[in-house]
Amino acid sequence: MKISQMFFKTYKEIPVDAEIKSHQLLLRAGYIKKQASGIYIFLPLGKRVLNKLTNIIREEMDNAGANEVLMSNLLPIEVYEGRIERFGSDMFKLQDRTGKNFCLGPTHEEAFTAVVKDVVTSYKQLPVILYQIQTKFRDEVRPRFGLMRGKEFLMKDAYSFDVDSVGLDKSYNIMLNAYRKIFDRLGFDYVVVDADSGAIGGSGSQEFMVKSDIGEDEIVVCQKCGYAANKEKAESKNFILNKNEKYENKQKVHTPNIKTIEQLVANLNKNESDFLKAVVYSYDLGIAVALVPGDREVEETKLVHALNNTIKLEKATFEEIESVGSVAGFVGAFDLKNCIVVADNSVQNMQNFVIGANESDYHYIGTNLCDLKIDKYADIKTVKKGDICNTCNSKLDVIRGIEVGHVFKLQDSYTKLFNCKYLDENGNSIIMQAGSYGIGVTRTLSALIEQNSTNKGIILPEIVAPYKYYIIIANNKDEEQKNLANTIYDGLQSNHEEVLLDDRYESIGVKLNDGELIGIPYLIVVGRHAKEGKVELITRKTGAKKLVDLKSLGLVQG
Ligand code: ATP
Ligand code: MG
Repeated sequence: MKISQMFFKTYKEIPVDAEIKSHQLLLRAGYIKKQASGIYIFLPLGKRVLNKLTNIIREEMDNAGANEVLMSNLLPIEVYEGRIERFGSDMFKLQDRTGKNFCLGPTHEEAFTAVVKDVVTSYKQLPVILYQIQTKFRDEVRPRFGLMRGKEFLMKDAYSFDVDSVGLDKSYNIMLNAYRKIFDRLGFDYVVVDADSGAIGGSGSQEFMVKSDIGEDEIVVCQKCGYAANKEKAESKNFILNKNEKYENKQKVHTPNIKTIEQLVANLNKNESDFLKAVVYSYDLGIAVALVPGDREVEETKLVHALNNTIKLEKATFEEIESVGSVAGFVGAFDLKNCIVVADNSVQNMQNFVIGANESDYHYIGTNLCDLKIDKYADIKTVKKGDICNTCNSKLDVIRGIEVGHVFKLQDSYTKLFNCKYLDENGNSIIMQAGSYGIGVTRTLSALIEQNSTNKGIILPEIVAPYKYYIIIANNKDEEQKNLANTIYDGLQSNHEEVLLDDRYESIGVKLNDGELIGIPYLIVVGRHAKEGKVELITRKTGAKKLVDLKSLGLVQG
């Protein structure tokens, strides 16, 4: 392709609303263009890369024996019966001209299960894995970071159906390995982590996390034994917070206008871990008070499970806090009414701690568990860097990651709902065991750029780069340079190489900047050495520059 024929525009300036590197470069390189918040158009360069990415994913899915299909985007809302409330406002809902309710598919577990239920009758048709590469729609509360979190995004979603849980384990491993191959081929620095299984529970859920400081997820990793889990799910050893001291009696202290733990630490001459932090929530069944040591936060995903997978979990309002007999900023788990009090397991080790007195401007010091009314203990605290690994006793680290893929043993959660059964050898009708496997394709593209770029531009791995070579004619008015550039262009094209020729009447500086910006691994600069039949080859990844002749480009001289 010649740039003069291409729908091509790059930008020097960093777009104002693009905070992260990949978003800035995607826009600057003219890969994408914003349509509206969280919605993007793919321009020629971006579309080429997206095609290559989807082809790699498609190849590995096909190699794994999965069948490609294409579900509809527009679905009757009844398909999601049972999950509509859980999706809430994330789901785009609409009506047709007769008033019938539809939605735009946010994910397709139900649609696939319904199809398999119709088509599969016998154990002879199982196992089966189906997949699609399709646009998904989610009305995200905070679409951000360009393609990272969009309202409309491309996903590869696959679903496996098996006769039993042994079969499901096999299918799950097949998909897990296919995902490893995909992310290995893309050259990612990534980690596979244990993930929260949501309301469904069970043990089989893992996420593929690309390591990145801008990642929205926090991941707990043990460098020694390899334990890795999403922070929402991660566990660490229960620590002993206080030494075995003499039990004190609780004593009320005046703490006017002091509401935060930091202020209290300074005022009462205590450590953060000497405090028992109470956070009040409203949930499906009323009000819940969560207690964690003062140097921790409440891990809300864990709290959701402790509250029997409540759908709603919001910080309580001042009025709600008053309704349980307390006051914001001074909550203590003494005589609270009309609420459930859930304490983190580690609270059982606390002694002589400080807690709010349910009264404005007062705390209690020297408090002990016998003073409190706790309804339930559960693991609800955040894991911190330096915590002790449950498996090998060494110190845990917390890093950030971008979730690019998710594999999940659904077991019979959807198949049961849809009565998706098969007949076994003996004619018994049995519910299938299913798995669900997603890759955020457009998010993966962003993650690729996060890990493969400099301030000057994108440097994509060859297998996904929009073109392999970018030929620059240093001086368009120089016939020798022009001829050699065209010879190289034609030669590389007949060798089936993907090549872009910058034949514009622009300065060499402009052309070089564009060449460096748009993610092409090799630049060929045809300049003053053209008369000797030599050109400069720049390898973007290493920055290496060398003079080469046509032969070393795989072309015949002359
Ligand atoms: P997240 O926690 O980031 O919202 P999710 O758990 O909702 O992700 P899944 O429902 O498992 O994601 O979807 C499968 C994959 O689709 C994710 O691993 C992610 O890569 C991608 N994905 C999810 N939501 C978005 C989005 N709004 N924009 C782009 N990609 C997304
Ligand atoms: Mg989500």
